[in-house]
Amino acid sequence: LNILRTIPAARRYTSRLRRPPRRAGRGTTIALVPTMGALHEGHLSLIRCARREADAVVVSIFVNPLQFGSSREAARYPRSFAEDLRRCRREGVDAVFAPTVRDMCPRPSLTSVHVDRLTAHLCGPHRPGHFDAVARVVLKLFNVCEPDTAYFGAKDFQQARMITQMAGDLNLRVAIRVCPTVRAADGVALSSRLRLLDEGERRRARAFPAALHRAGQLLKSGASADRIGREMQDVLEAQGVRVDYAGLYDPERLQPLRRAVAGEASRAGGRALAAVAGWIGKVRLIDNRLVFRR
Ligand code: AMP
Repeated sequence: LNILRTIPAARRYTSRLRRPPRRAGRGTTIALVPTMGALHEGHLSLIRCARREADAVVVSIFVNPLQFGSSREAARYPRSFAEDLRRCRREGVDAVFAPTVRDMCPRPSLTSVHVDRLTAHLCGPHRPGHFDAVARVVLKLFNVCEPDTAYFGAKDFQQARMITQMAGDLNLRVAIRVCPTVRAADGVALSSRLRLLDEGERRRARAFPAALHRAGQLLKSGASADRIGREMQDVLEAQGVRVDYAGLYDPERLQPLRRAVAGEASRAGGRALAAVAGWIGKVRLIDNRLVFRR
């Protein structure tokens, strides 16, 4: 396992890999799995998918301070670098790229990366500046590592959709793969932030998948999007979740489905994205699931 601590080191490593071998026709293909560390089975599923599809796997571990609401929230984010390295080694990862904040976020940076519309709803209004910060760092990671493919989780549906759009809009040569959400046995989507919950809070987190399940049932029964949103919110609030949003969205455009579901969900091919975000104490969790009319 190569541990790359600086941008020049990562550049040297990936460009050496990329150079085609003298005899064979093609160079090594590189997969990038961007993470903020505190790795769990969700991250490992992305790594395994990358391992199957590319010759070399690079995992980046970088807690981007700019994508948090406050420096306190960033400081609270769980970190477990030594254990992360052990897991990467076990999964046959080729290199971990773990740059410093100073390296990745030099000041002043006068260039911003903003993906319009797709960031207008869901987490966008609740986390001002978050998606611009994510887009900027991910674009920088792509430029430094020059991967052939990059892997993202459907758990962060809006993020994956935004990155896919950015890659298309800017003609990036990287292919974006989106992998399914990995859940705990009780249905809760795995997240590094679950480590910050106590036992009681962790139990209450089951309200998140429960709200999504309820949305699926109601959509099938023909309920309106408004009613579905309200019932999702009730399921969350019954467990003391402070809700940021709960409702149905168009999975492509990420706009809320407001009117009767019959019309709008059928335009979206009978599919809707049920999505929720909220706080249990000081910890913000999100979850989503595609739901179908039939
Ligand atoms: P994070 O470290 O939370 O920024 O996540 C890094 C990547 O792992 C992102 O693409 C996430 O969407 C993905 N990821 C996080 N949790 C899960 C999960 N439970 N299942 C699948 N992918 C996940």
